[in-house]
Amino acid sequence: MLQPTDRSTSRTAFDVRRRRWLGWMAGGGLALAGLAAVPEARVFAQQVQDFIEGPPMPDIAPRQLSPHVWMIYAKDGFPNQENQGMMANIVFVVTSKGVVVLDSGASLQIGQMAIRMIGRVTPLPVVAVFNSHYHGDHWLGNHAFVEAYGQDLPIYALAHTREQIAGHEGNLWRSLMERWTNQATLGTRVVAPNQTVTHGQTLTFGDVTLRMHHYGRAHTPSDLCVQVVQDGVTYVGDIAMENRIANIDDGSYPGTFKYYEALQQAAGGQLWVPGHGHARKDLLDTYGSFLSGIWEACVQAVRDGVPLEGAKALVLKEPRVAARAATMDGFDSNIGKYTSLAYLEAEKEAF
Ligand SMILES: [Zn+2]
Repeated sequence: MLQPTDRSTSRTAFDVRRRRWLGWMAGGGLALAGLAAVPEARVFAQQVQDFIEGPPMPDIAPRQLSPHVWMIYAKDGFPNQENQGMMANIVFVVTSKGVVVLDSGASLQIGQMAIRMIGRVTPLPVVAVFNSHYHGDHWLGNHAFVEAYGQDLPIYALAHTREQIAGHEGNLWRSLMERWTNQATLGTRVVAPNQTVTHGQTLTFGDVTLRMHHYGRAHTPSDLCVQVVQDGVTYVGDIAMENRIANIDDGSYPGTFKYYEALQQAAGGQLWVPGHGHARKDLLDTYGSFLSGIWEACVQAVRDGVPLEGAKALVLKEPRVAARAATMDGFDSNIGKYTSLAYLEAEKEAF
């Protein structure tokens, strides 16, 4: 009794597939399939593929920072066609239970490169990804990791970061990155984090414990810092940078100083690993001193009734700012804007 039913079911399914196939052929698929044999058509097909998906990201050999922690270093601070959006470091932690990725890069292609580089260090699979905040250079690579390790791969972030990536910010960053790189990141999909972490939480992966830190608004309202407890290494995302002036449009100057203080009190001395630039033990001091130079000059200007233009001149003369002006990436193009933001915040604090 079962057999005839089975056969008729499978025959029906086969017929449906066959009808679809014939329909596709009649609808022009046959003509395309024939054309593909012509070399010019193959070149055209390749161009169509490149248009849909940007070119692969060239390899960048990972560097070891500590017994468990590695970094794929981004030498550029800002995205363009040549660097294909490679502007933020990708950090990964090799644990006995698999690899944990701290920020996944700015595109599908960069994420795919990171997966190749992880493969040079360990045969273990990636078992978790963390996104430090919602700026796209830190999470657009999520796409590559779910493609390689499945939709159920845990991607952790603070609740506000998850909301922003799943909402308007996610698509905004995807399209901005395409524009800035002249389409090199095409093909990248928004894959939002699927797990929420909170301040103080610890997660254990085999021989490694990760501790979550968040102390209010710094670079954004939701910057997650991840401490690799056994190594004395903490990934700080964009709350501090080595030699690049940070976007502080969504951030706060006094919030950043408070964050540094609380983080240092909780974690103690660490090798601080930024999303942009090299890891340093004095990173919070050096970047903090630069930001304090901008902030304190603006606070003084507001107190003295100096207008914004005057405050900008005072900031440029401030020794802690002037010392970095010549060598800091993005200084000339951004210092005016970030002084304005400091000035506005200082005005708000004054009242
Ligand atoms: Zn950022």
